[in-house]
Amino acid sequence: MSSSVIDSPKKNDTTVGNYFVSNYPPFSFWTPEGVTDLHDAMHLAPDPRTPLGLYVHIPFCRKRCHFCYFRVYTDKDATAIRGYLQAAIKELDHYMKMPFIGGRKLSFVYFGGGTPSYLSPNQLRELTDGLKERLPWDDVEEVTFECEPGTLNEKKLEAIREVGVTRLSLGVENFNDHILGINGRAHRSKEIEKAYHAARSIGFPQINIDLIAGMLEETESNWQFNIDKTLELKPDCVTIYQMEVPYNTTIYKEMKAQGKLVAPVADWETKRRWVREAFGRFESEGGYEVTSAYTAVRNKSRTTFIYRDRLWAGADLLSLGVASFGHIGGVHYQNQHDFEPYVQKILAGESPVYRALKPSAEEKLVREFILQLKLGTLYFQYFDEKFGVVSREVFSEPLNIISAWGYAVVDTEKVVLSRDGLLQVDRLLQEFFLPQHRNVRYA
Ligand code: SF4
Repeated sequence: MSSSVIDSPKKNDTTVGNYFVSNYPPFSFWTPEGVTDLHDAMHLAPDPRTPLGLYVHIPFCRKRCHFCYFRVYTDKDATAIRGYLQAAIKELDHYMKMPFIGGRKLSFVYFGGGTPSYLSPNQLRELTDGLKERLPWDDVEEVTFECEPGTLNEKKLEAIREVGVTRLSLGVENFNDHILGINGRAHRSKEIEKAYHAARSIGFPQINIDLIAGMLEETESNWQFNIDKTLELKPDCVTIYQMEVPYNTTIYKEMKAQGKLVAPVADWETKRRWVREAFGRFESEGGYEVTSAYTAVRNKSRTTFIYRDRLWAGADLLSLGVASFGHIGGVHYQNQHDFEPYVQKILAGESPVYRALKPSAEEKLVREFILQLKLGTLYFQYFDEKFGVVSREVFSEPLNIISAWGYAVVDTEKVVLSRDGLLQVDRLLQEFFLPQHRNVRYA
């Protein structure tokens, strides 16, 4: 045995790779050659029934978290940031002339990152004014804005609310300062409390808190403490991710340097149990309902997540900014994933799209089916009518497999995942992938 490899992974260990399935077919199948299909799709008038959303990527962060695999920038000054925001607005200008907009109004907006709350109030106002001038937000039902608690103060929160944000998403991840520090987070627990209470007093319609189960050095008692603190704050929505260690993270780089194959975080069984315990306590002590593999909401009739639901049902998503992911007229695409090439393409009046993929009809069906399975309950009728298939038959093999494993109950109308099935749904979705997309690198 090689002396550099000092561990051998067991079935449940956390090893390197992407666990979370956010789209289909896998990103590793998207190509520069596919961009022609996107350009063709953009030159067609849309189906007016397809909702249009806008995603704006803000790639700046105060610090790089050790588990982060996004392309983020911690060294950009105000001039570079302003140049970037102007480029994003110019990118929208370019799209406004194209037939795929087709007079549609935006129905949802999402600011993701990176850290959108890294922007100053003035930068934020300039950006949103520029976007709204080109594509008005009159009919927008939801505007989500991701925040890092340490970047927030009252003035900034007021600006975020004033520009129209309805759903504030706080990247809390953990309430313990040692764990936040050792995982490379920039904020600390005091800043979480301050930001949360200020946001509440300003009156955001919805506040979501993100947590991660299984960060470096997470413990049983601290995880319960995270649940206690969340219950105390009473956010409208809690989103819990299970820690994964993709390539391109600081954690993986250290594992590689030490010849380790097992990531130094809790195994999958423990992470699932932690999420199960959290959901159980949110339900019994906080009156929450579990509405997807990752989310629990306090008032289901009031707390929606339009961005997720529309996207998982095939909405168009016009994405702006470096490395951002979009979906127009049935074609997936991603922009240039480095800052300078992205800005330069825009300044030169060229398309910033780097790779794309036009899924086949079969791939589109698989995509929607697996994404909607993450909600825990799925009705066949929707797929049969939309795709002209008998979806229960198309997916009979994987459905039989996950039922036999005890993770789902399937009847003539629907699939209902058990709680155990829901908590490992991303793993189960592999069974629904077409053969060519299995056992390949996802991203
Ligand atoms: S705040 Fe988010 S985007 Fe920024 S480095 Fe951390 S995980 Fe990555």
